[in-house]
Amino acid sequence: MSQLLVDSDYLDVNEAAIYARRHPGSIRRALRAGELHGSQTKPGGRYSIEPKCIRDYLAGSLCEHRQNVTQLGRAKKALAS
Ligand SMILES: [Zn+2]
Repeated sequence: MSQLLVDSDYLDVNEAAIYARRHPGSIRRALRAGELHGSQTKPGGRYSIEPKCIRDYLAGSLCEHRQNVTQLGRAKKALAS
């Protein structure tokens, strides 16, 4: 592991694969399937992935960003009812 892999850094797919000890193809698949949270600067562009999101993905849990989305959805539902 290099010094590069600290929480404040965003990783690309290849770096994420190294971090997760997975194949880059598995990372890309997980990103497309929405199992792993990543952001793209433009559609079809490079992914930026946070190490903590990768850790949550490997642990089989939602990262904090996706938890927020879920909570927002619940809040909207609560307001609507
Ligand atoms: Zn995330």
